[in-house]
Amino acid sequence: MKKNKISKNWIQRQKRDIYVRQSKIEGYRSRAVYKLIEIDEKFKIFNNTKSIIDLGAAPGSWSQYIVKKYKKSELLAIDLLNFEKIDKVNQLVGDFTKTENQEKIKSFFNKKVDVVISDMAVNTTGNKNLDSIVTGELCTDAMEFAYQNLDSKGKFVSKIFMGSSFNEIVADAKKKFKEVNIFKPLSSRKDSKESFIICKLLR
Ligand code: SAM
Repeated sequence: MKKNKISKNWIQRQKRDIYVRQSKIEGYRSRAVYKLIEIDEKFKIFNNTKSIIDLGAAPGSWSQYIVKKYKKSELLAIDLLNFEKIDKVNQLVGDFTKTENQEKIKSFFNKKVDVVISDMAVNTTGNKNLDSIVTGELCTDAMEFAYQNLDSKGKFVSKIFMGSSFNEIVADAKKKFKEVNIFKPLSSRKDSKESFIICKLLR
């Protein structure tokens, strides 16, 4: 399909999408917020949490939801892209996979944290297998970081793509966490290979 035909289809789909419309009404920067809301309602991710790290946070709807609903939590959000300031969110611009940025995150809290969430994804290439491999690597990096930096009762949530690395990532999660669930929110597009892995309680 030609590039302008793809972008025309994308614009049409955005106009029809109820989550896009709802996010505009509610003042969220992305429809992605409804995935986190569904995850939170089902798995109670943020109850009694004080410190939260949001990986791949731009444009910022997940962070907006957290600071609006969980006012007592301290939130650090990082993205490769510079994103507009959100009140009460500590924002960092940089590549999460770089050691220096992980060190900055660690020294910000200087102790174990309660929740790590990751919606990191690279720009899709159109090759669904390649996209799932690269996003799988980001999920693996985020999970290792979470494992090293979460409190023993901590929680980890990450985007994960159904693809060649899926089973390996789930097996790794089960070695690191006592509770592991896979969940595809209703607001996640049906034609996307995206799901979420929700992990609780470190082993
Ligand atoms: N959860 C966000 C929200 O609610 O607005 C949407 C996140 S968007 C689906 C994925 C983001 O991951 C992009 O903004 C992208 O720049 C970011 N990302 C991808 N690789 C990254 C990396 N290595 N380090 C930091 N951010 C990354």
